[in-house]
Amino acid sequence: MFIDGKWKEAENGGTFDVLNPATGEVLAKVADGGHEDVIAAINAADKAFSVWSSLTAYQRSHYLYTAFQLMMDKKEDLARTMTLEQGKPLAAARNEVQYGADFLLWFAEEAKRIYGQTIPSSRPDQRFIVLKQPLGVVAAITPWNYPVSMITRKLAPALAAGCTVVLKPAEATPLCAIEMCKIFQEAQIPEGVVNLVTACDPKPVGEQFVSHPFVRKLTFTGSTKVGKMLAGKASRHMKRISLELGGHAPFIVFDDADPVHAAKGAVLVKFLNTGQACISPNRIFVPRHMVDAFTAEFSSRVNAMKAGNGMDPGVKIGPLVGPDAIAKVENQVADALKKGARLITGGKRIMDSPLEKGYFYAPTVLTRVTQDMLIFREETFGPVAPIIAYDPADDVIAMANDTNYGLAAYVYTQSTSRAMRAFEGLRFGIIGINDINPTSAAAPFGGIKDSGMGREGAKEGINEYLETKLGGFSV
Ligand code: NAD
Repeated sequence: MFIDGKWKEAENGGTFDVLNPATGEVLAKVADGGHEDVIAAINAADKAFSVWSSLTAYQRSHYLYTAFQLMMDKKEDLARTMTLEQGKPLAAARNEVQYGADFLLWFAEEAKRIYGQTIPSSRPDQRFIVLKQPLGVVAAITPWNYPVSMITRKLAPALAAGCTVVLKPAEATPLCAIEMCKIFQEAQIPEGVVNLVTACDPKPVGEQFVSHPFVRKLTFTGSTKVGKMLAGKASRHMKRISLELGGHAPFIVFDDADPVHAAKGAVLVKFLNTGQACISPNRIFVPRHMVDAFTAEFSSRVNAMKAGNGMDPGVKIGPLVGPDAIAKVENQVADALKKGARLITGGKRIMDSPLEKGYFYAPTVLTRVTQDMLIFREETFGPVAPIIAYDPADDVIAMANDTNYGLAAYVYTQSTSRAMRAFEGLRFGIIGINDINPTSAAAPFGGIKDSGMGREGAKEGINEYLETKLGGFSV
């Protein structure tokens, strides 16, 4: 762990294993932090806050630039660590490192644009000035699926704003977090500004994050269930909260879209990170008369995707994170087949040597998916593409909105009018119009409803770490 500028073992001496999900091998042992460690980290962050927040924006910006440059220098090493502990293909890991570094660069700039305002008063002898100030100590909890970029998407704006941070990464991917903290250390960010607590059991750390008086903000990316639980507790202590939670993205193909172009886009985004992405399509709506053409193109592309160890060239489908993820996918596929779905390809765990030691599930295509199936409601977080046929009389936007989630949605159409109506009518935070990658450090990322609250990236991202202070001056 990295606490107050020093690398430490856990107070109780405990460790836990980090596994390679492609092979089941133990990659490393890391410190299993607990109550004492998280308190020490929060205290260090609190102590460092006065130093860090009183630097000029230009000084903080300089540290972030340095960290960005170091990330670029270490891109290949970071990507390899990611593929080993998380499983995604090396090319995808390199892309993620770049995406993660982009947040450091973007917020190095935004640090210098934290503007207040002056407001005219109705009284001639009064002036109003609004000041933006950092919140204080930020507790950050990150998931395993994007183990580098989910860290920088939180830490870069927090640091730019002048906050200090205690980070708790997912237990499956602490090695990427350790590498990121080495970068912050090498960038000479003052001690205590960034602290890392690794833990096998997240609960004791989470309890302090939501209740300790020094923590002023909780920023969480993970499941809706855990996010809601933590937000409930944190709100009792009036902490600011940002939540990036689960998704259940619709992918709507309109009847004027080119089915081949739409299928190409749908495959790319569905199987990104083996389906383990919060913006992964979970319901692909296709006009009934286009289903055959769409499915033929879609499944031929799926069948061409190679599953395997992300270190091997040409691999597109890596392992799932663990046995629970395999069980969830198996359950959803079995439920769909029982209720009348048709299996086009895949539909089983891959047990061929040497993949049987990892958590591989064959990329799967289901058609005849209907609203009564689990997969229509539950986030899959795996490589299963459910295709739903719709008729001209159906209101496909209403069908797409029929979910508790509200993160990403995708639309394929050649009509500007349809695109605009869908953009306005879909109740989701991010809409891709003929675009499967509507994400960037410069653009606000986040969801509504059970997908969370707050935005990351863009100018909105830094506001999540700022307090608004009003000064009324009698002159
Ligand atoms: P998860 O909720 O199980 O874990 C996420 C993080 O929360 C991990 O660091 C974990 O250790 C921690 N955690 C779990 N229980 C906790 C507790 N009781 N107290 C404190 N911390 C606790 O989710 P996951 O399965 O690791 O991640 C996948 C989920 O994350 C999916 O639902 C996915 O959609 C979501 N996600 C969302 C976004 C987004 O930007 N909206 C991005 C990536 C992932």
